[in-house]
Amino acid sequence: MNKQWDVIVIGGGAAGFFSAITCAETSGKRVLILEKTAHVLGKVKISGGGRCNVTHACFEPKPLTAHYPRGGRSLIGPFHRFGASDTVEWFEQRGVTLKTEADGRMFPITDNSQTIIDTLTHAARAAGIKVQASTGVQTISANDHFSLTTNKDETLTADHIIIATGGTRLAAGARLAEALGHQLIPNAPSLFAFNIADARTDDLPGVSVPLAEVSVDGMKLKATGPLLITHHGLSGPGILKLSAWGARDLHDRDYRFHIKINWLPNIKVAELESKLVSKRQTWGKRRVRGHCPFEAIPKRLWDRLCEAAGISTDTIWSQLGKEPTHKLITELNAGSFQVSGKSINKDEFVTCGGVKLKDVNLKTMESKLQPGLYFAGEVLDIDGITGGFNFQNAWTSGYLAGTAIADI
Ligand SMILES: Cc1cc2nc3c(=O)[nH]c(=O)nc-3n(C[C@H](O)[C@H](O)[C@H](O)COP(=O)(O)OP(=O)(O)OC[C@H]3O[C@@H](n4cnc5c(N)ncnc54)[C@H](O)[C@@H]3O)c2cc1C
Repeated sequence: MNKQWDVIVIGGGAAGFFSAITCAETSGKRVLILEKTAHVLGKVKISGGGRCNVTHACFEPKPLTAHYPRGGRSLIGPFHRFGASDTVEWFEQRGVTLKTEADGRMFPITDNSQTIIDTLTHAARAAGIKVQASTGVQTISANDHFSLTTNKDETLTADHIIIATGGTRLAAGARLAEALGHQLIPNAPSLFAFNIADARTDDLPGVSVPLAEVSVDGMKLKATGPLLITHHGLSGPGILKLSAWGARDLHDRDYRFHIKINWLPNIKVAELESKLVSKRQTWGKRRVRGHCPFEAIPKRLWDRLCEAAGISTDTIWSQLGKEPTHKLITELNAGSFQVSGKSINKDEFVTCGGVKLKDVNLKTMESKLQPGLYFAGEVLDIDGITGGFNFQNAWTSGYLAGTAIADI
């Protein structure tokens, strides 16, 4: 293999491919992608439950930045240069139509992440990019050009380097940046589910509510969204959002804290009360636990919330006294749960932390400390909530790095 390259991209993920393609397509520079695992674009493959949530239908830069618990403010300029609509157009131009789901997430109409992989690998091939898998970069040194050593005992040189090694959980890729003088913000998991052992949710996996509000006791942390009961506790967009915004604080609490759940955030307490009181008359002889007056609450969950409010299985609506009514209202709009750990969310997980943004020129993604060194994707201290925002960061930063090198 050729040992001298114009550009070497370290990491064959979304950001690595996007930066390489952008650079090679517009400049004709000789670009090499080095990927340490046997397969490139591994995370794209498993992303979005195998469907790849490519981006989010949020086309204005400012509102888009609001979906990034870390790095959002820094992304305003980058999103002006390459935002979600540019992503849609980029894929559209290569024959991939994206569809928007009700919650704004955008997927290929094929509902298959392989479509995105095929598009990226085809574009890379067409642009003459060389991709070498099973090749991990172990060291980088910088003189008048960059020298890289790999696990295959090769030494390669390049005029420009893009570090696109992904999340810093295993830190190895980011250590390359550290060796070139960059500071790493310590990592912590983001987008995780909550472990909860509680009679109200035990053995109800798969039960969900369309909209709930979850807040963490003693912290200014609150999120709304769909909630899903799992084998180990709670997940769903509402929980994942909370985990992303609270990634650092919840890590500091060793994932032990109390939450309050409002299962019906759009219904005020007075309204809840009058609904329950009215059912005492209209449903007088029916069993309370067998008849839920709220469409959004699944029957099995309703039964558990009633049980927690001390309502016995044979209590009928006309017998529902003041105290259990109030207890039930509390269960419905401020049920307290103890979280005792976290679980990986199988659909999407990311790490927060990474290369400190202060040392990176966010117009070009070039290092301010080492000319010729660029960054793209999750290796940067930027992370989004679930919904396509993490890939958007990979496309945007990859595009900026690729364009900047192409323009040299
Ligand atoms: C299960 C799952 C599902 C997800 N689903 C979505 C989704 O639907 N939508 C969304 O927006 N986000 C999703 N994400 C997050 C998203 O996948 C990441 O934010 C995104 O992949 C980051 O892209 P990247 O190129 O920066 O890093 P990666 O995709 O992690 O790629 C980095 C690559 O660099 C390689 N590498 C690391 N070190 C070296 C080295 N020293 N030498 C050579 N190669 C190296 C790695 O092997 C890897 O292939 C998901 C994440 C997971 C884990």
